[in-house]
Amino acid sequence: MTRLPIQIKLTDSKKEKPNPEKLIFGKSFTDHMFVADYEEGKGWHSHRIVPYAPITLDPAALVFHYGQTVFEGLKAYRSADGTVRLFRPEENMKRMNVSLDRLCMPRFDEEAALHALTQLIQIEKDWIPTLEGTSLYIRPFIIANEAFLGVAPAKKYQFMIILSPVGSYYKEGIHPIRILVENEFVRAVKGGTGGAKTAGNYASGLKAQEVADQQGYSQVLWLDGVERKYVEEVGSMNIFFKIDGEIVTPAINGSILEGITRKSILQLLRHWNIPVAERQIAMDEIREAYEEGKLEEVFGTGTAAVISPVGELNWGGYKMIINNGETGPVANRLFNTLTNIQNGKEDDPFDWVMELKSELVKLA
Ligand SMILES: *Cc1c(COP(=O)(O)O)cnc(C)c1O
Repeated sequence: MTRLPIQIKLTDSKKEKPNPEKLIFGKSFTDHMFVADYEEGKGWHSHRIVPYAPITLDPAALVFHYGQTVFEGLKAYRSADGTVRLFRPEENMKRMNVSLDRLCMPRFDEEAALHALTQLIQIEKDWIPTLEGTSLYIRPFIIANEAFLGVAPAKKYQFMIILSPVGSYYKEGIHPIRILVENEFVRAVKGGTGGAKTAGNYASGLKAQEVADQQGYSQVLWLDGVERKYVEEVGSMNIFFKIDGEIVTPAINGSILEGITRKSILQLLRHWNIPVAERQIAMDEIREAYEEGKLEEVFGTGTAAVISPVGELNWGGYKMIINNGETGPVANRLFNTLTNIQNGKEDDPFDWVMELKSELVKLA
């Protein structure tokens, strides 16, 4: 396809950058953003990078009423020598289109999205913090902005990419979290939108998260929407169990979000000849393994934390303390390997990392 040119309008008042030691996730944003518009019959057009600013929407914009919106999340890393790295960004763009299809929204060309993203990062590269564990969080998203109250796919959309410098997830080193197994509320059902990164999935999860917070748990483990018997995933992480030497994770079944970290971890484990299985896992099986002393490790995986070891699982009052509440060796090895690959400190045997060339952006 012929690449549409990106019009660039730079800001004349740059913001002050936040203290890299005190970054709060998703609180501060860079000087510019990428925007493109869609109209039925015309397709995507007006690709542009403009100063970061509020947008104006009609109160009848469809996104407010029926939730046609999709997002992605990935990170850019900068090492001391100034090299900027992205981790498997083409996978995010591919998944964005899977989500768009599910929500009856128009696809965005994957190469064009990647081009937009790299151009924006090039302009904002001074915003990528270099402190150990810090990065620039990238949030591409699409909203239906047609003013219409009929329940139907919109005829107008806007695609945007915004950037936010984020701190180290683990300020005092990688440490385990406590998780509450959710027996009442469900996140998604087969045939629903669980496999898409779309707003409604997260809005519907807030209630359970609130209850967990009040009980001192940082995350919820979702079970299947029909029987509340089988493990699905955590808030914004996939979940892995090490049972008697084998690493097990729920198979992609239509209601689980297919994480790129999950996919990468499965590849690494197979490469290391560690036995892995993607299959259905019942909570009864987890409990049984625990009682037999075979539940060796539990960890979540996702872009934000990379690996999040689980020290406690509370299933309806039955508390399982995993690996004495400490990070296990597999979680540790995966965390170190993945973060080293992302930061360019270790070989990248699968060609996962995209290095940004420091060519200057041509002003259109
Ligand atoms: C984004 C997300 C994940 C993790 O995906 P990654 O690509 O690994 O960041 C897992 N579950 C849900 C519900 C998510 O939204």
